[in-house]
Amino acid sequence: MDIVQNLSYPTTENIVDIVNKYADCCICLERFSIGDRLRIVPCRHCFHSCCIMLWLNRCNLCPLCKTDVWKSINIETHV
Ligand SMILES: [Zn+2]
Ligand SMILES: [Zn+2]
Repeated sequence: MDIVQNLSYPTTENIVDIVNKYADCCICLERFSIGDRLRIVPCRHCFHSCCIMLWLNRCNLCPLCKTDVWKSINIETHV
């Protein structure tokens, strides 16, 4: 299963919000900008799609709050 396919992604209006609120991606430390491909993990943190994909290949935990992303998604998809 490709975990990133199961992550939600923001709508255009949400991206503006996210860009203002989070400012940068804590994986690559680059600033978010409108038009970036972003993904939102179940704990509501947001990262670049490519960054979180690489991260989750090595580690199941959200890089910010250490929530178990795999577990949260499995719970969500099996309800
Ligand atoms: Zn990034
Ligand atoms: Zn998190």
